[in-house]
Amino acid sequence: MNKQKRQAVIAGNWKMNKTPAETTALINEIKPLVANADCGVVVCVPFVDLHAALDAAKGSNVKVGAQNCHFEKSGAFTGEISADMLKEMGVEYVIIGHSERRTYFGETDVTVNKRTLAALNSGLKVILCVGEYLEQREQGVTAELVSMQTKIALMGVTAEQLKNVIIAYEPVWAIGTGKTATAEQANEVNAVIRATVAELYGADVAETVTVQYGGSMKASNADELLAQPDVDGGLIGGASLVAEDFAAIVKAASK
Ligand code: PEP
Repeated sequence: MNKQKRQAVIAGNWKMNKTPAETTALINEIKPLVANADCGVVVCVPFVDLHAALDAAKGSNVKVGAQNCHFEKSGAFTGEISADMLKEMGVEYVIIGHSERRTYFGETDVTVNKRTLAALNSGLKVILCVGEYLEQREQGVTAELVSMQTKIALMGVTAEQLKNVIIAYEPVWAIGTGKTATAEQANEVNAVIRATVAELYGADVAETVTVQYGGSMKASNADELLAQPDVDGGLIGGASLVAEDFAAIVKAASK
C-alpha cells in the first residue's frame, strides 16, 4: 500500500445543475481557491456547459469532464453524445456508470463496459463508478458486487488504458442522502476494488490506480475519509456546487 504511487483526484459531479453562464461564474470562483492544489481537480458538468467550462478553466489546473458518453461512434442515437465529440471539444474526463444513470436510465454493467471502452479508445480519461444499494450491503454482498462491477466494466481494457481510469466507489445509499460511509467502510471497499484490479492486472498496477470515494463527502468529513490508505480522492456531488466547499475538499486532499 503506497499512496505516493498514485494521484489523489477530487472531481465534482455537477449533475443536472448550472447553466452555461452559471458555469463560467462558478469555475471563475473555484480557480483561485484551488490554484495551489496538490491533487488533481476536475469538474464534470452538463453537456451544454462544456464549452463554457473549457473556456473558463483554460490556463488553470481545473480539468473538465462530462457526465456520460455513448458507446457508438455515431449514428441514429437521438439525444446521445459520442466520446469523439467530447474529445474534439477538448474535454479530458468522462464519468461512466454513475448510479443515477444505472438507476434512472437503464445503464447496466455491460453498457458501462461498452462506454468505458469507447471513452478510452477516444483518448478520454474515465471516472468509473461502482457501488452497492443499501439492501445489497445489508445482505452482505457489497464486496462481491463491487468486485463484479469492476471486473465487467474493465473487460477488454488494457493495462496501458487502465492508466486513464479512475475508479470511484460510491455506495448508492450515501449519494445525495447526507449519509456518508464511515471512513473504515469506504476504505474497506476501496481496498476490495484495488484487490480486484490486482487480480486483473497485477499488484504493481493496482498500487498505481486512483480509487476515489463518493457519497456525501463534504468539508467536515473529507479529512477523515481522505486519510484512509486506500481512498485516493473523491467524487463530489452536492458540495461541488459551492466553490468554498469544493475548495475545502481539494485542500483536504492536498495534505
Ligand atoms: C455523486 O453524485 O457522485 C455524489 C457523490 O453525490 P453527493 O456528494 O451529493 O452525495
